[in-house]
Amino acid sequence: MVDPKFSPKSRRREGIGMTSQRTRRRLIDRLREQGIVNEKVLSVLLDTPRHLFIDEALAHKAYEDTALPIGQSQTISQPFIVALMTEFIFKSDITVKKVLEIGTGCGYQTAILSQLATWVFTIERIASLQAEAKQRLPNLGYRNISYLNGDGFLGWESNQPFDGIIVTAAPEAVPQTLTAQLSQGGRLVIPVGGGEGQRLRIITRTARGFDEQQREAVRFVPMLNGKISL
Ligand code: SAH
Repeated sequence: MVDPKFSPKSRRREGIGMTSQRTRRRLIDRLREQGIVNEKVLSVLLDTPRHLFIDEALAHKAYEDTALPIGQSQTISQPFIVALMTEFIFKSDITVKKVLEIGTGCGYQTAILSQLATWVFTIERIASLQAEAKQRLPNLGYRNISYLNGDGFLGWESNQPFDGIIVTAAPEAVPQTLTAQLSQGGRLVIPVGGGEGQRLRIITRTARGFDEQQREAVRFVPMLNGKISL
């Protein structure tokens, strides 16, 4: 019998050489040095095979702290930013069970969220990108995810309220439709801004209204209206 630990599939998942456990650990050390403190978030990043979310030709760069192209002029976010945004979502005073993600892309951020929340709802406007992620994620064992090919500006009305909403593309202003879909104590983490630069914002729904914090300067692809069904 083949020991499952040594089957070709799990070897690919664990990675070799530039995608090995040691290379991954180095990335985690770096994230810690840069100020990520949530050990649960760090351990999920350590366990998630980022090299399997990108083109094989780029796999050797998977554990560098950089954004990489994923096709359709889109990018997989830089690990530091993924860790930072995830940390913000889970820092709230409530238990974060339901999370909405706008911008599935290759599904890497989705995989991270699915290991920390009870259920993840993810929306992507480009159908072909989401179709790939929708195949990849369950193959890697991430199953507590619902997918929608749609326009994230509308949120996901039938599944609201969400304890966390994470947006991985930048609009010019905070969409009110999204803040309206937060549960009390829930947080929206979103890059906002156009040509003059973007900043992360954290918007928390309180008993009285909304609390808003401006955070790090960031660079995301723009959040665009409408969906592409191909
Ligand atoms: N989290 C993804 C990031 C992908 S880049 C990853 O790590 O792979 C941002 C994604 O947001 C792109 O795939 C883009 O198509 C998508 N996007 C942009 N505007 C959108 C909108 N209005 N609704 C849903 N997705 C959107």
